[in-house]
Formats: sequence, C-alpha cells, structure tokens
Amino acid sequence: MPLVKLKAQPTCRFRGAALALALAATLPAASCAPRAPSPITAPETPPARPAPSRAPNRSPPSAPPAPAPPLRPAVCGPAAGDPASAANALSLNTLAWAPFRRPETGWETYAPLIGQEIGSPCAPDTPGFAAALSAWQDAQGLPGGGRMSEAAFQRMKARWQDQRPFVRAAHGACPAPPAETTLAPARISESYLGKPVVMRPAVLAAYRRLAAAARQDLLVRADPRNLTIFSAYRSPQADAERCRLERNCDGVGRATCSPHRTGLALDLFVGAAPGFGPDSSAEANRRFQSKTAVYRWLVRNAGRFGFSNYPFEPWHWEWTGEAP
Ligand SMILES: [Zn+2]
Repeated sequence: MPLVKLKAQPTCRFRGAALALALAATLPAASCAPRAPSPITAPETPPARPAPSRAPNRSPPSAPPAPAPPLRPAVCGPAAGDPASAANALSLNTLAWAPFRRPETGWETYAPLIGQEIGSPCAPDTPGFAAALSAWQDAQGLPGGGRMSEAAFQRMKARWQDQRPFVRAAHGACPAPPAETTLAPARISESYLGKPVVMRPAVLAAYRRLAAAARQDLLVRADPRNLTIFSAYRSPQADAERCRLERNCDGVGRATCSPHRTGLALDLFVGAAPGFGPDSSAEANRRFQSKTAVYRWLVRNAGRFGFSNYPFEPWHWEWTGEAP
C-alpha cells in the first residue's frame, strides 16, 4: 500500500471541493487541460524509502550543465546469451504485473530508465545488461543475479519517485497552486500544435536550456514536434471539472491532486504510436515511446537540466529546482 494516494486523500478532495465551490462563481472556466486521454498521473510511492543509490538531484544547475557522464563501457553480448539474459529476454515482454496498479505485460517500457539506473548502455536482453543489473542488485542487497524482478523495480521506482519534489511534498498534503499571475507563457513554437501553455518562469528557462541541447541531436531534431509542450500548469479548478465530467478520478484513471497544479510539470511530445495520441497511456503507446530517440535522450540527459520523469508516462517530466 503506497504511503501516498493523493487521489484518495480526504485533504485533497476537501481542498479541491472547497476551492471549486469558492471559485466556481467567480472564475471563468479554464480550458488548459487536454481532454481526450486519461493518463495516470498518480504520484505513487512505495511503502518504504530505501536509501537511494545516488543522491537525488534536488538542486539542479542553473546553466550550463556539464555533459552527461559516460555510461560504463560494456561488452553487451548477444541477446539471451546467458541464463540471466535469457530470463530477461523472456520476461521483457511477458511478465504479468501491475507496477503502477494497472495491469501490464513486460517491462520493456521501463528498460531505458532501468538501463540508466544500472549504468548500462546494453539492450535489456543481453549479458552486459544482466551483469550490470547483477552488480546493482548486489549493491542494493537484493537477490536476482541479473534477472529483472519486481523487487528490483520497486527499489528503482522508489528512487525515481523520490526525485520528484511533488511526491516528497505530497507526503503531507496536496500542494497549493502558484498565483497564476506569476506564470510564464511558452512561445507558440514551443507548444504542441500551438496550444497556449503556462508554467513557472524558472521551469520555462530550464526547459529552453534542455530543448536547445536536445536539438543538437540529429535524431531528436528530425521531428519538429519533439519536445513541444502539450500540457503544463493546469488549474485545480479545471482538473476538478474534468474529474466531475469524466468521472475517472478514481486513483487509476486520473489523479485528483495532479502535479500539473504546481506549474512544475510538463508533458512533452516524445512520439506517439500510430493511432494513438502523445499522452495515451495505452501500453502499446508507452512501449512505442520508450523506444524513441527523444525519450531516450531525455532519460539520459534531462536530469542535468533538473527534470525527472514519472516512469509510467514517458511524456511527463517535472522540474526539481523549486518546491511545489
Ligand atoms: Zn503530465
């Protein structure tokens, strides 16, 4: 049972309801929330807080950040080249589990984050990946011998979630939103399909540093939609209205207390599988996104600019440089 289930917290619901009641009569309806998808934005945390393998990035550099450190050189070897990698090759697309409460098949979607965590550039079904995972498991005091396991994933997830200021703050209560007059608009060219988006000024500055660096990569630059912002700040009132209309703020379909209320969260275009939107939480879409050059660039580099990913959503990134 996670420590924090914001959507189930009476505090959040009470605050959201009170705000909605207090402001409904005075505020115009906001339309900053995308309507089609029902992504899981739950800031879930695991039941324990194990020591992170690296110190969380809580003070991102202002600019310019140092280059990403090289991943350890490795001889990756052939797919399924030893027993551990053979087991990983099998579970990669067959493991039946629900790491974010929604049933999933396999862990391929999370392979880039896992590879970054264990410091391996190898494909997840290779002996090189298994060797790096085994070393990580040993350092964490976990069994496995290089075989990916739910226990290893939960340990990693705890670390990833703890990097998000929203999750840390939300251990107490749902954060209050910033004053909307303090938020900064992105340029039309920076947003997806020209949609108006606003966020905290420091987030916009950090985003611009990240995007400029990313576009030096030819594969990222190949699609001009890459890294455009399709959602940033969303008012609690607008989210509450979506909850009311779509009746899916049940803790799985959508969070009642969304990180987007903080002005620190960005949804970035990282590709979309044919037939899906860029924020579709369908497994096929998320698996597709995990393989795009732009997502993999973000996994490798976004931390240098102070951004951390919500692992269930390849498109959702939160800036870690300010408290919610
Ligand atoms: Zn988001």
